[in-house]
Amino acid sequence: MLAVAPQIFSDFRLDFHSSLMPNPTVSITNYAAENLYLVAGKNPFPGLVDFTRTPYLYDIMEDLMPDNGIERVVLMKGWQTGGTLTILAWMLWVMGVAPAPMIIVQPTEFLRDKFSKQRINPIIAHCDDLRAKVSEHERSNAGKREKDTLVSKQFPGGHLNLASAMSEPSLRSESAQYIAFDEVSAYVDDCNGHGDPCGLALGRTSAYDGRKKIFYNSTPTIHEQCRIQREYLTTDQRKFFVPCLSCGEMQVLVWANFDISGEEPAYLCISCKYRHYNQDKTEMLARGEWRPTATSIDGARGYHLPALYAPVGMWSWKDSVRQFRRGLADPVEMKVFVNNCLGEPYEDDTIQTCNPDDLQQLVEDYWPADKLPEGIGAITAGVDTHPTHVDIVIVGWGRGNESWVLDYWVIPGDSNSPELWKEVHKKLKTSYRHHNGLSRLRIATSCVDTGGHNTGAVYEFCKSKKDERILPIKGAKGSAAPIIDHPTVKKDVGIFLFPVGKLATHGRLFSSMERSIQAFKDFGESLKTNLSARYRDAEIIHFHKALPPRFFKELAAPKKIWRKVEGKFQMVYETVAGVDDHAHDCLRYAHAARDYMSDIDIDKVCSDFDGKVRRDT
Ligand SMILES: [Zn+2]
Repeated sequence: MLAVAPQIFSDFRLDFHSSLMPNPTVSITNYAAENLYLVAGKNPFPGLVDFTRTPYLYDIMEDLMPDNGIERVVLMKGWQTGGTLTILAWMLWVMGVAPAPMIIVQPTEFLRDKFSKQRINPIIAHCDDLRAKVSEHERSNAGKREKDTLVSKQFPGGHLNLASAMSEPSLRSESAQYIAFDEVSAYVDDCNGHGDPCGLALGRTSAYDGRKKIFYNSTPTIHEQCRIQREYLTTDQRKFFVPCLSCGEMQVLVWANFDISGEEPAYLCISCKYRHYNQDKTEMLARGEWRPTATSIDGARGYHLPALYAPVGMWSWKDSVRQFRRGLADPVEMKVFVNNCLGEPYEDDTIQTCNPDDLQQLVEDYWPADKLPEGIGAITAGVDTHPTHVDIVIVGWGRGNESWVLDYWVIPGDSNSPELWKEVHKKLKTSYRHHNGLSRLRIATSCVDTGGHNTGAVYEFCKSKKDERILPIKGAKGSAAPIIDHPTVKKDVGIFLFPVGKLATHGRLFSSMERSIQAFKDFGESLKTNLSARYRDAEIIHFHKALPPRFFKELAAPKKIWRKVEGKFQMVYETVAGVDDHAHDCLRYAHAARDYMSDIDIDKVCSDFDGKVRRDT
């Protein structure tokens, strides 16, 4: 360490000036491979760093190199995947190859000093190339000496400032071309009344527009409150695809595909179910590749790296299973598992709900003159059946799956009696006058639930209505089940039965409800008074003011819960026993009916209707 090994300086001062010239052709990876020495004790693999153990870090370090147009790099990661090592390799390269001012920010002063003493100093002390070049901050008295050494390092052509997210002066100290935000999700929101610590530090980079590099590294914390997730969601959201060692199918390692029932956890290929064990990771990682899963808003790169990818010899799959089991008994431990093993933010409440009042405040008055609201190109129905009544929800569909709830009927009666189904049929034959005043729209497709005590009666009803696109449906479990799938033939009754994915339809409806509530918050009350300000967006649901409170209560009844299902951790949707959720189910089925018509281009239908208005007026 510098402070305790002053003789090192005199030994190397001779060639101090000879190595001033930067050599940008040397990559971060190559420079680290020859110069980054990890000391025994803190590191499971002491000696010169070996990135072949963590091949997924190559791309990240490549992004941090100059002249590639990438300004922001985000790593949302789990335990022992090498995020901090990436920062150290980058820092060493800046010091030795491409000198410039750099800031590394830690959450607190304590962590900053610890990082400096335990991580940075030993690396510099063991680096033949840098030992003589890196000097301590100017010091005038012995008392300040150690502190200065910890927070600032000078090297020819640049300097490194170590800042704390809780210390405003350290964040504002000097301008910087490179900033590393380490464990960024642990930062305070506000730095002693001066605002966002990241914002303060980023303010120091303006002199380097076009050349700066910002690296965010962190395990995530709480869903929607966590900085690393916020950053990651604005990037191209890369995930690391690894090959199945049997069939070669490239895939992302996800917890749901682990079999944790035996002594040794196994990862099952999504395609051939081949069982991979922890030691197989070395080969899988070596043949893996990053693939973007989204479009970045500004060219930023984002990487998601769960601890499931940690190299053999570090955090193992067995370690993850152990932490998961702890989590089953204690929600705090489950948060640790989700954040650190899966590298994902944790839903603060394990249960998420929609508030019926939030939904009811969205109501609009869109039936002014017995005409459909503007923008509807097709209509579907969802029918939910019960022993004593049948519920029907009619939905109009516009561009981008914007939708309007048009009608909601509860038809009382014995659902095994033909009379009730006659009544249902009458309702499903309703037609609506289009907004253009000329055309009439019929219900194009209806989905009728066949689960429950009246399956036979529903089969019988649907059997003769195939040509009217009245489809019998059956709930399909599993995360892979689509909104609506190809039908199976029920030969004994002579019908086609359509599987409707439970998770998929619940997920779609929840997301639409959340989007609608958010849009209302964004637009505010102006929606109700100013039609031209009416919000229109993909997947927004519009609710009519005549819908009863019961409708909204039922719509909001299912809860989104994260729990273990058949040994695997996944999202489920559940309604408390005894609480009605019929309106929610009807709407799910109307969504399924919409997806059944995927061959119909509703955008085009809407445009055709618009054209009709223009021609006729
Ligand atoms: Zn396979």
